[in-house]
Amino acid sequence: MDKPKLNKLSQEVINQIAAGEVVERPSSVVKELLDNSIDADSSKIVIKIKNGGIDLIEISDNGIGIPKESMTSIFDPHTTSKISNIEDLNTLLSMGFRGEALSTISSVSNVTLLSKYREEETGYKILFNENGKSPVKKVAKEDGTTVKIENIFYNIPARQKYLKSPQTEYRKIHELLNSYFLIYPNIHFVLEKDGKIVKELPQVLNTKPGDIVEKRLNEIVGESSSFLKLYYEGSGIKISGYTAHPSNHKSSNPKTYIFVNNRPIYDKGIVRAIYEGYSRYIPHGQKIDFAINILINPELVDINVHPRKEEVRFENPFRIYSAIEDAVRHVLSKELSYKETPSTNNFAAIRESFAKQSSNSKLYEPTNIYNSNKSASVQDTLLFSKELLTDIPEDTQLPWEEGQEIVNIFQIFKKYIVIEFIEEKLWMIDQHAAAERINFESLSKGKDNIDVQNYLVAVELNLKDEEILFLEEHIDFFKNIGILYEIKKNKLILKTVPVEFVNSDFKKVFEEIFSLEEDIELLKKNFKKLRDDILATISCHNSIRSGQRLQKEEMLDIYNKLMDCQNPYSCPHGRPAVWKLSLSEIDSNFERTY
Ligand code: ADP
Ligand code: MG
Repeated sequence: MDKPKLNKLSQEVINQIAAGEVVERPSSVVKELLDNSIDADSSKIVIKIKNGGIDLIEISDNGIGIPKESMTSIFDPHTTSKISNIEDLNTLLSMGFRGEALSTISSVSNVTLLSKYREEETGYKILFNENGKSPVKKVAKEDGTTVKIENIFYNIPARQKYLKSPQTEYRKIHELLNSYFLIYPNIHFVLEKDGKIVKELPQVLNTKPGDIVEKRLNEIVGESSSFLKLYYEGSGIKISGYTAHPSNHKSSNPKTYIFVNNRPIYDKGIVRAIYEGYSRYIPHGQKIDFAINILINPELVDINVHPRKEEVRFENPFRIYSAIEDAVRHVLSKELSYKETPSTNNFAAIRESFAKQSSNSKLYEPTNIYNSNKSASVQDTLLFSKELLTDIPEDTQLPWEEGQEIVNIFQIFKKYIVIEFIEEKLWMIDQHAAAERINFESLSKGKDNIDVQNYLVAVELNLKDEEILFLEEHIDFFKNIGILYEIKKNKLILKTVPVEFVNSDFKKVFEEIFSLEEDIELLKKNFKKLRDDILATISCHNSIRSGQRLQKEEMLDIYNKLMDCQNPYSCPHGRPAVWKLSLSEIDSNFERTY
């Protein structure tokens, strides 16, 4: 091997290396240029992308512009008009700050910059290419700046090879743009892709940067999700935004937008906190669309931890996470509280929320079968079976008011309740999951909502000393949920329990509660936090189990009580309680178009 020789790298090579961190791909160029346009106080930004940004990225704004004297120097490394010392970083609210974007971008692509500064008479133009800087020339231009980036990575083949297909690069740009569209409703955006305008978003009146508004959200996420408005303020943090209704949960590709002080970022902990807030509302592992902006004193968050500013570091992340979780829980329990509306409206509210899901796929046209040209015999058969299906047997004509909605209700496999509704819907309810949910919510509300029953003969349970101590300490907690006991030496004498639990094995119930934590000490310590888990554990031991035959009245009772729950969609462990199918879904499964 040759003797190693030390080379001092030229500034050009240093820039190219640094560029690899700041400018990873076309979308990172778009981000830097957008940040600059936003910092320049623009109210309109036009973005043009060609071939996934590989051939062209052009961003024009109507902002303050760049003075002639700065036109050449802004391409020098570490030149910025935004900070002058390190302390500024702590209070910074502008998007850019390191003064390296333009210098690194111009070291890996051809740049054309046109700008007219507000206070000057004319505009100016400068080019950067393989031959270096061009002289500054006068051009006719309205106020604002246009930056044109061509042939990205033309001089670094290794990086160019690393680029994905133009479609993929465009998708990344598009995702990034969506974040900016969302968080700057006060800016008019135009997006042009390969010469065609693909999005035009006018300013939303009376908004300021950081306001997430439903209008933009619907334009960006689409109207497939219905959203709940989120708001939280406390201990120096303000959280605002929207999060999808639990019935819009999905198994993959959720649209999630997180902003900190209006800056799009990614943070696993925040995503987890949101889903934690949903934990008793959607099935475990399911996802939700959301968009939130967290406003926090800039001194409590470090934005300078990532080369492309895609992540931040909070001084106290857990305070943020628990605030987010609280905010989500709060909005869910408030918005989904059907209890407050009179019972007839429950149906309307629930029907509305479910109708939203299925209305997109209406294929069924019931009159078609009469008009079709099918042979008589086929038509007759169809008519005949239709008659059969609509002929409701006497005993399913339900007596009670809301029962008009239900055409049929029955049980299958001693496990599921099937309900056919008048408006072409079918529900399958998991009887045990539903009963768990019902009991969980009534236990959560406390003893005034719980019917209790005394045992004829008190049940005696032998327990360990520390278990007895624990139950002694929390006697009031259990009393409040209708479980009354006395303690005699190392025996627990169980006297009263909620009606639904008279047949439950409380030895098992307590065992399961004790096993929520590794040991009783931990259980004591985390009691408050585990309250819901304890209630969920008890709820699981209710009298309605799978494998049990139900009478029609019992099924209706479960259905009605479930509909009165704040969250009828899942059991307290997060498993689904209801499976909804529309006739159009069933039809399309049979490839039926009429
Ligand atoms: P930074 O944004 O970190 O300051 P950049 O290299 O991105 O660094 O930009 C350097 C400087 O160029 C900025 O500080 C700003 O003064 C000026 N500048 C860049 N883009 C624009 C623009 N679109 N409008 C006005 N000024 C701009
Ligand atoms: Mg910048």
